[in-house]
Amino acid sequence: MAKSGEKCSFCGRPKQDSTILIAGLDAHICENCVQQAQIILQEELAADKHKSLPDYNVLKPAEIKRYLDQYVIGQEDAKRVIAVAVYNHYKRVSHAKEATADDVEIEKSNIVIVGETGTGKTLLARSVARMLNVPFCIADATALTEAGYVGEDVESILARLLQVADYNVAAAERGIIFIDEIDKIARKSDNPSITRDVSGEGVQQALLKMLEGAIVNVPPQGGRKHPEQKMIQINTQNILFITGGAFDGIDKKIANRLQTNRIGFKTDKKHHQYDKDNLLQYISPVDLKAFGLIPELVGRLPIVTYMQSLDRTILRRILTEPKNSLVKQYTKLFELDNIKLIFENDALDFIVDKSIEFKLGARGLRSIVEGILIDPMFEMPSSGTSKSLRITKGFVEDKFQKTSIARLKVA
Ligand code: ADP
Repeated sequence: MAKSGEKCSFCGRPKQDSTILIAGLDAHICENCVQQAQIILQEELAADKHKSLPDYNVLKPAEIKRYLDQYVIGQEDAKRVIAVAVYNHYKRVSHAKEATADDVEIEKSNIVIVGETGTGKTLLARSVARMLNVPFCIADATALTEAGYVGEDVESILARLLQVADYNVAAAERGIIFIDEIDKIARKSDNPSITRDVSGEGVQQALLKMLEGAIVNVPPQGGRKHPEQKMIQINTQNILFITGGAFDGIDKKIANRLQTNRIGFKTDKKHHQYDKDNLLQYISPVDLKAFGLIPELVGRLPIVTYMQSLDRTILRRILTEPKNSLVKQYTKLFELDNIKLIFENDALDFIVDKSIEFKLGARGLRSIVEGILIDPMFEMPSSGTSKSLRITKGFVEDKFQKTSIARLKVA
């Protein structure tokens, strides 16, 4: 620390005016100058890294699907659609580098995934990014506002991607951004002349350019822009946007459309039969528009797919099958203490039953398992007597009663 009477060698601020003055051999620096230096450093590093591009792995659609199968259970349609979209997107990125002026221009394949919360939309997007080894970030559409309003503006999403890419602009420029809750910025009415929900529509407008491909000035620190901040330019042309949302009630829009096509819900064999309980599978861009996304936004999200709701069979498989399934993770945690953890099948069935009973979905599986294992995880590492733990149905029933989830029922 500096002695009194000393000042910052960079800006000249005296010690008494600065919160922290760090002393070096022959100089001092105040906290403001440290922060300024940090910004300069990031900008310079970003400029440096612009040239170096880490490899990314593009597999064929069937291989992409096989990769996704390791992490995402079920959701066969979504995995196929996304495998093709991702393959085409990155083919387009490599093609653009060699294309001549009169070549066919391949359009961007941004994606919308429609499905209830907790059905694996984020997991799917994250798995795609992990497979490709490209930067990935998640943004929440509900936090976004039009430029100039309080809240995050769309540039801040790019700032986050840039941070994840470690300020490597070239890597960020072919990353993946997952925008969650895109349905929440929908206009409340399909008819713009009746109710104009300005806030939602304004955000949709702000997203358009970025989704389509534009050069955007990004404040490297994210947050609000301030005049003296140097901006980093990011071209979003090759960034893949995957958007997701629950689109509550969109099944009614789908049903209406299918009915007005006069071919649905007839028992007549000549007519196509629709599966009324799973209408999401018929989702099309028209329904997104009917739900309240502006046509321009729908146009920039040409790939539309859906997630099934998770039934008992899928939840049961989620417990054990994914590469980093809960059962595998907890087995590993115990193994690190040299304890062999074994789950019996009917114990796992019980966990799934409770998740369904309390409507907790896949996310709930984790809280239930955690609640059940809390006692042994607390006691076993220090007791050191037992080298194995068999999780039976009786054990889970007993422990489940003590969890906060079970108490929900009483309340
Ligand atoms: P969403 O984005 O649709 O709300 P998430 O991707 O965040 O859902 O899923 C929540 C959690 O549930 C994930 O982290 C994952 O552990 C689990 N999960 C959900 N769906 C699946 C699935 N189909 N396969 C494997 N795990 C899943």
